[in-house]
Amino acid sequence: MNCPLCAFALSLRPQRKLRCGHVFHEHCVARWLAALDDACPVCKQYDEVPDRVLEHRERQRAAREDANKRKQRRRRAQEREWCNNAA
Ligand SMILES: [Zn+2]
Ligand SMILES: [Zn+2]
Repeated sequence: MNCPLCAFALSLRPQRKLRCGHVFHEHCVARWLAALDDACPVCKQYDEVPDRVLEHRERQRAAREDANKRKQRRRRAQEREWCNNAA
């Protein structure tokens, strides 16, 4: 078996098996997980600390909603201004 990340034989280095069952070199998958949100490089299933990932997603979603709301408020304020100018 080869490591899907570096394509060298798994037996050459310490290995690590993710919860989904895919096996990688310890150092290859550690680097991958650090960069890419803890998802398995092969099947994209989450491996570790899903809570941290979910929290991160939730924060991103909230930030997006916030930005949308601010944009809507700005547009409404602008429309009111136009109406006032017309009157
Ligand atoms: Zn590797
Ligand atoms: Zn996997």
